Amino acid sequence: MSQEPRFVARHLKPATTHKTYTLRNFREIPQIAHLDEQQRFDIEVVGRILPFRANNFIVDELINWDKAPDDPMFILTFPRREMLLPEHYETIARLLRTGADETQIKAAATDIRMQLNPHPAGQMEHNVPTYQGMRLHGMQHKYRQTVLFFPSQGQTCHAYCSFCFRWPQFTDLPDFKFARRETNTLLAYLREHPEVNDVLFTGGDPLVMSAKNLAAYIEPLLQSDLSHIRRIRIGTKTLTYWPYRFLSDTDTGDLLKLFRKVVDSGKHLALMSHLNHPRELEPEATRHAIVRLRETGAVIRTQSPLLRHINDDPSGWSTLWNKQVDLGCVPYYMFVSRDTGAQHYFSVPLVRAWKIFREAYQNVSGLARTVRGPSMSATPGKVQILGPAEMMGQQVIALSFLQGRHSGWVDQPFFAEYDDQAAWLDQLKPAFGQKRFFFEEDAAAWSVNV
Ligand SMILES: *Cc1c(COP(=O)(O)O)cnc(C)c1O
Ligand code: SF4
Repeated sequence: MSQEPRFVARHLKPATTHKTYTLRNFREIPQIAHLDEQQRFDIEVVGRILPFRANNFIVDELINWDKAPDDPMFILTFPRREMLLPEHYETIARLLRTGADETQIKAAATDIRMQLNPHPAGQMEHNVPTYQGMRLHGMQHKYRQTVLFFPSQGQTCHAYCSFCFRWPQFTDLPDFKFARRETNTLLAYLREHPEVNDVLFTGGDPLVMSAKNLAAYIEPLLQSDLSHIRRIRIGTKTLTYWPYRFLSDTDTGDLLKLFRKVVDSGKHLALMSHLNHPRELEPEATRHAIVRLRETGAVIRTQSPLLRHINDDPSGWSTLWNKQVDLGCVPYYMFVSRDTGAQHYFSVPLVRAWKIFREAYQNVSGLARTVRGPSMSATPGKVQILGPAEMMGQQVIALSFLQGRHSGWVDQPFFAEYDDQAAWLDQLKPAFGQKRFFFEEDAAAWSVNV
């Protein structure tokens, strides 16, 4: 393995101006000439269903255009034909080719989007908490210790990942926005729930917000009447899609000051960084941003789904985890890609996911084995695939909850019939001729937090 000296941020290029690319202007990207006209048309077709957005940093620093359209970082950001089912692709392609009007295209797009399971795992119905009889939209409370908050100005991202399970938020589907503007009800709810120790700001990407807006959400959590809130997490992709957020944006100083303030208050601040491919850790600006962030006392933890065509090989994962440890980041979760959007394109069967995880995990030191997975964020909880086994003469798959709607479910192994094609929990059958899994028996539990 090559030896790299500790990264010292010295030769940072001057601040880059931000440029956003969407369906409207993607043809202005100079490197787009690497694609042929059919591939550019496919972006327009698929981009009508799955949201598309990129920026100049991704285009210039992360994508290997010589390998496009098969480059993993290209696939991560750009729509392509195979992400839609053939009949869906044809419907939109026909409308575009025949010059149909906008209303017609939009109606067809809405119809197709509704067929793509826009809200997996019952997110909209199951996990919304109530306060004084009021349902608190823009918040989720699924696991005892942790409340999720979706700040309204943070419900967009620097770029949209083509696999994203929150994709409907970025479309004009009217009923799929999930956000909250004010913090008063969050604070009132937290005061009534001393069992909650963690607040996770998520989106979208909360770090697209200005430091001022972010502070308005975070600073109230530092008040003395919320001393039971010990940990604040921010789910983000900014570190690798716009590292200049931590280096040279106009309010970078205020943002880093806010982070320091959280840490100085004695709370744990974690950036839950989405990191899908080892290349994302190569740009100098990103490494520099990691140094700056760590100087504030924040911890960077990393997570990603396992995605066919992007990161479905063990050596990529061990490289990713090793690089993270070298840079002082903590590998946290490997997820199974969700049953939504372009899942048919990205999904990896559970048994294969386990094989990839295991081979990668075997090849890293204990310092990188902080990662857990592969994990499905399913309706009853986060379910880890422990692996295939033979029990009482039967081939089974052993599973266990990393997080459960009922904390009593956690770490209790359970078994499904062996199935090397199943790609999600609902495709598995209980082993040993049982009718239901143990957590399904516990009918009352399903009403927790509903
Ligand atoms: C993953 C997740 C959390 C956080 O779980 P941890 O295991 O503590 O990281 C909280 N709420 C929901 C709804 C989640 O999906
Ligand atoms: S950054 Fe996260 S929320 Fe935003 S598109 Fe990517 S996966 Fe989705």
